Amino acid sequence: MFFTEEHQAMREMARDFAQRSLVPVAAEIDRTGQFPQSLIDTMAEMGLLGMKIPEEYGGAGMDTRAYALTMEEIARKCAVASVYVSSTNSLSIAPLLLAGSEEQKRRYLPGVVTGERFIAFALTEPGAGSDAGGIKTTAVKEGDGYVLNGRKCFITGAPIAQTAVVFAKTSPEKGTRGITTFLVDMSAPGVSCGKHEEKMGIVGLPTSDLALEDVRVSEQDILGQVDMGFVTAMKTLSLGRVGIAAQGVGIAQGAMDEAVSYLKQRRQFGQPLATFQGLQFMLAEMETKLNAARMLTYHAAWKLDQGENADKEASMAKYFSAEAAVDIVNKALQMHGGYGYSKEYTIERLYRDARILPIYEGTSQVQQLIIARQLLKT
Ligand SMILES: Cc1cc2nc3c(=O)[nH]c(=O)nc-3n(C[C@H](O)[C@H](O)[C@H](O)COP(=O)(O)OP(=O)(O)OC[C@H]3O[C@@H](n4cnc5c(N)ncnc54)[C@H](O)[C@@H]3O)c2cc1C
Repeated sequence: MFFTEEHQAMREMARDFAQRSLVPVAAEIDRTGQFPQSLIDTMAEMGLLGMKIPEEYGGAGMDTRAYALTMEEIARKCAVASVYVSSTNSLSIAPLLLAGSEEQKRRYLPGVVTGERFIAFALTEPGAGSDAGGIKTTAVKEGDGYVLNGRKCFITGAPIAQTAVVFAKTSPEKGTRGITTFLVDMSAPGVSCGKHEEKMGIVGLPTSDLALEDVRVSEQDILGQVDMGFVTAMKTLSLGRVGIAAQGVGIAQGAMDEAVSYLKQRRQFGQPLATFQGLQFMLAEMETKLNAARMLTYHAAWKLDQGENADKEASMAKYFSAEAAVDIVNKALQMHGGYGYSKEYTIERLYRDARILPIYEGTSQVQQLIIARQLLKT
């Protein structure tokens, strides 16, 4: 209903890539935390890192539906690989596409497509997560530039990034209307990353703090207008939500695949688990929830592709898909009994990977706030 033949072809390509290249290494990436550079190179060659970057900057210029289908197929086999795709296609590039000058787009975007440049998105701070407007990082005007001081945390890809999009207060007295976006060179004096977070899941894409101590940036490094950074941050997160929703659908589909296969193969009381109606009912509920999440995700993607505002639809998709994925993966693990608790079985990794979904890019509670605000606004 939502897709063209090109979309279906993109899904097939992503599915084939995931099966061929990700399945053999997904468990090893999770175990070692090492994501092979050769995989990043392949994803770049396939155009996956720049799917949503316009063609004039070297990208594939694809729409949100193609992106959502790709995310789904990749997350189904290897969640962390899908985080590489979502980072480069949303948080890394949306601030540039939304607010960047032509010169900034030409300078930064082509490297994202080729995998040579990772751009980290640095909004969250130790004291400001859901309340992103409460950030304390400052940018003080000095000469023809600014001096940045502060500490960001949980920044995806900071340890491998060449550039960071940093949100800082330029007019602290103006609250959310006093935040500016800066492009910061990760090798600039005063920039450091601190220790890598030891994460529960999506292991293989490092996350760390980003400390800024008297970091000097020039006026050319301002992204968009001074004091308008909060709008850029919120719009970026809104665009990114469909990708996370699709990631949830993919992880949940991966869990369904594992559950169906295990129920057919495992025998208790002299018959396959699949014959027990109690488990069949659980499976039916999981499949129904999964497809509801899928439809919300496709609808939000479709609406964005029509050029319409989809803030509520994207939040509903992200909220429902994240919660559904956690529930589905949990039930799929339960169906595995004690084996589900063993690292020998894929479901154990999926269980840990899924748990990030209701937390990053706006928690489930923040999505509920956005949905309710849209309903109650006058
Ligand atoms: C693996 C990982 C990667 C991340 N990557 C990035 C990144 O690349 N860039 C970046 O900037 N950030 C990133 N984050 C940060 C992430 O976006 C935040 O963790 C998230 O927004 C929640 O903020 P918090 O952790 O401070 O929790 P808090 O805001 O302290 O929330 C704690 C709990 O309170 C709830 N809560 C808060 N306010 C309300 C309210 N008003 N009403 C009801 N409930 C509320 C929340 O839903 C949550 O359940 C990442 C986090 C993780 C774990």
